[in-house]
Amino acid sequence: MNVVCIGAGYVGSVTAAAFAAIGHTVTIVDVDPVKVEAIRRGESPIFEPGLQELIRAVSGSRLFAEDDYRRAEDADAVFICVGTPSGADHTADLTYVKEAALRIGERLNAGRYTVIAIKSTVPVGTSELVAAMLEEVSGLRRGREFEVVSNPEFLREGYAVADVFRPDRIVIGTASDRAEAVMRTLYEPLLAGRLDGVPGLPASAAPVTKTPVWHRTDPASSELIKYASNAFLAVKISYINEIARLCDALGANVKEVAAGMGLDERIGSKFLQASSGWSGSCFPKDTAELLATSRKYGSELKLVAAAVEANADMHLYCVRKVQARLKAMPGRRIGVLGLTFKANTDDARQTQASVILRRLAAMGCRIQAHDPQGMPMFRKMNPDLPVQYAGHPMEAVKGADALILLTDWASYLEMDWRHAAKAMRSKRPYVLDTRNALPGAKLREWGWDYEGLGIP
Ligand code: NAD
Repeated sequence: MNVVCIGAGYVGSVTAAAFAAIGHTVTIVDVDPVKVEAIRRGESPIFEPGLQELIRAVSGSRLFAEDDYRRAEDADAVFICVGTPSGADHTADLTYVKEAALRIGERLNAGRYTVIAIKSTVPVGTSELVAAMLEEVSGLRRGREFEVVSNPEFLREGYAVADVFRPDRIVIGTASDRAEAVMRTLYEPLLAGRLDGVPGLPASAAPVTKTPVWHRTDPASSELIKYASNAFLAVKISYINEIARLCDALGANVKEVAAGMGLDERIGSKFLQASSGWSGSCFPKDTAELLATSRKYGSELKLVAAAVEANADMHLYCVRKVQARLKAMPGRRIGVLGLTFKANTDDARQTQASVILRRLAAMGCRIQAHDPQGMPMFRKMNPDLPVQYAGHPMEAVKGADALILLTDWASYLEMDWRHAAKAMRSKRPYVLDTRNALPGAKLREWGWDYEGLGIP
């Protein structure tokens, strides 16, 4: 099939490359010429493990990149994968989605049937809005020359390539059997688990042991599934983080508690890892949208509101832990390892690091920070934040009064922690491991005053 993906970001570039790898002819369209040029050269426009190899395998043969919407004219399916950041009133800002809809509308073709699939995370009613815009701009009719379907994306940054080939479920929101049939044909190799010989497929995506569930529903429910899922995961993380704080107070161990809880199949062991809180480019904006909309409709999601509040407090709980050790903070030098919201991504939008570093800076601390991939975006997102960016993790450690591990990049876990202890300022240097990922007993042996979250 002929496929067009609008947006070459974390969702669009992975989706487009995967559709190309399973046999479709795909054009990515982005307004950012740097991303378009990167894909044309066979390079990944973002840092995502495995994506470079996947794009290289299909670029120029089945994957193309453009800065205009021409290819939408002969597309069987057009995927909208543009950003939907938080607007001023905390609802999703649909500026990019509307712009994409306008430009697709200008290209829709009376001579064929095109399915426009919205992969961006959008509020309930957006499929309807986009369909109305397309009718207005193109003069064509939904159900005849085109259809708009909701097809939310669930991939995780850091695992996106494996996730896109092996999703748990594919959700399609549409009232149209014809549009559903187009979507099924597109996804057919994934539904059948036929990934043999797919170029650029990472080892993590094969072999196929389980095929995705096809979940067709109405557009409104489909749109809400995405928000309800993300908010549920945010609630789950906030919950285990509150338990971690209680463990600190009571002397219990949150790792043991989570392990015991996770053995109950109704609960499950995933998303029960204590941390400095959830953050990043999805959960904050998606919980904000769900809350703002639920309030607007007189149906506030109180659990989600509590999870947001508990999460903000969790970021600051980490600062309070450091302060409890160092006492007066002005002039203290704090080393920070990890600026993205989790390991294996360069995405530094709305991370917990920016909240924590901001608070430390406000308390008069001097900050020296490192991230393997996230420093350029973090610097861009936080131009006002006085941070000394380190070229190497040890530069963030050197001479620090305290060290905070914010993300569990393998390179941090494998660091020479014995040597690092000697590079710190004090004889028994303090490290706060916000991922409970380091071997605490060993670190203590090596001279560290080691502390995790919710572990004695
Ligand atoms: P992103 O910011 O990384 O990418 C969006 C891209 O769209 C950018 O490259 C931008 O230049 C481009 N763009 C903007 N307006 C355009 C236009 N009119 N025409 C063509 N290109 C345009 O965003 P993302 O992280 O990929 O997220 C996209 C959507 O998917 C969001 O709604 C997000 O909530 C959702 N989502 C994201 C993830 C994730 O892990 N990042 C997972 C699931 C769903």
